[in-house]
Amino acid sequence: MYYTKRTAARINLDNLIFNAKSYKAALCSDTSLMCVVKADAYGHGVKAVSKCLQDELNVKWFAVSNIDEAIELRENQITGNILILGYTDPAEADTLINYNIIQACVDLSYAKELNRFATKGKVSVHIKLDTGMTRIGIPCGDIKTAVKNAEEIYTLQNLSVKGIFTHLCVADSDSPDNIAYTDMQISRIKEVKRLLNVDGYDTGICHWLNSAGGVYTKQQGSDLARLGIILYGLYPNHALEVPIEMKPVMELVSTVSMVKYIKADTFIGYGRTFCAKKDMKVATVTVGYADGYPRLLSNKGEVIINGNRCKIVGNVCMDQIMADVTGIQVSAGDEVVLIGERNGEKITADDIADLCGTIGYEITCGISKRVPRIIIKNNEQIGID
Ligand SMILES: *Cc1c(COP(=O)(O)O)cnc(C)c1O
Repeated sequence: MYYTKRTAARINLDNLIFNAKSYKAALCSDTSLMCVVKADAYGHGVKAVSKCLQDELNVKWFAVSNIDEAIELRENQITGNILILGYTDPAEADTLINYNIIQACVDLSYAKELNRFATKGKVSVHIKLDTGMTRIGIPCGDIKTAVKNAEEIYTLQNLSVKGIFTHLCVADSDSPDNIAYTDMQISRIKEVKRLLNVDGYDTGICHWLNSAGGVYTKQQGSDLARLGIILYGLYPNHALEVPIEMKPVMELVSTVSMVKYIKADTFIGYGRTFCAKKDMKVATVTVGYADGYPRLLSNKGEVIINGNRCKIVGNVCMDQIMADVTGIQVSAGDEVVLIGERNGEKITADDIADLCGTIGYEITCGISKRVPRIIIKNNEQIGID
């Protein structure tokens, strides 16, 4: 297994397993894990991540965002249940049947289209309920209408309803207003379920928890917890402590390409946005925004070189950055840690997100295709994704 030294994401499967176990231990015993591996496992490399979860933890439920991701899992020997959380072209109904993939029913008219296109049997679906996110799902503002719509889905010949679910939009908040909103969302899905059951419909697997919901809400009754961000060791909301232990799964490292001394009044980089106030030592590093390292870190971000925190100077380029290494021992070829911990210095994807005004999710999902994912287990490199 080989990659050329430049920039790489190191994916630590032991930490992945640690996070899944730690999260599972905090759930009610009758809530199972559904591991959310959409967007290439939040940028971590879905092949190694999903295989590890299936083989090491016997995970039986996976969630993805679309049919291409679902097929990729099947082709990666994932045999458990796969739920597509988002839209699939109804014309793909038979593909869903062939690959034994469960589709989220985004609303009643979608269900009818899916039903119309299915010719090879029944498409398994989970009915999505919109309890307050206002994205996809049967609107639940009026519960009776929602139940009526859901019941019509049960009558469609070529669909098989295997579950119902909803998505919480503020479960990662501790404000009383948001906590009340989450409670309202949960009471809506519970009420829909109750009424469907009263009318004799089997609601199957009923679920509403995401990462945040599993750790912050009183979670009785959700058959699954759709574990995403915490699986990868990041915060649903960086401003709020997570009451379980977790470890970052991704480390992002790069390489020093050149070291030089510059005089005071020297400009650095595109746009001349940095001018040295004094004589400095500067290292050039082989990472840029084309790797998904945000340009918003220009003159703002920090990296760790040989155990020292160093400031980025000048604008982040497409393929390179410059860092202030004044007073630090460093040579071309040395490792640069962009996300990770060395010598007690630590930078997380959430820290980078804070500097960029976004969330950790966007940082790891944004690490681009040209960055190899080095898969690590028991401190050994076991593959490259
Ligand atoms: C992405 C997603 C999740 C996982 O959310 P996290 O905050 O990463 O745990 C769960 N459910 C749905 C519907 C999603 O789209």
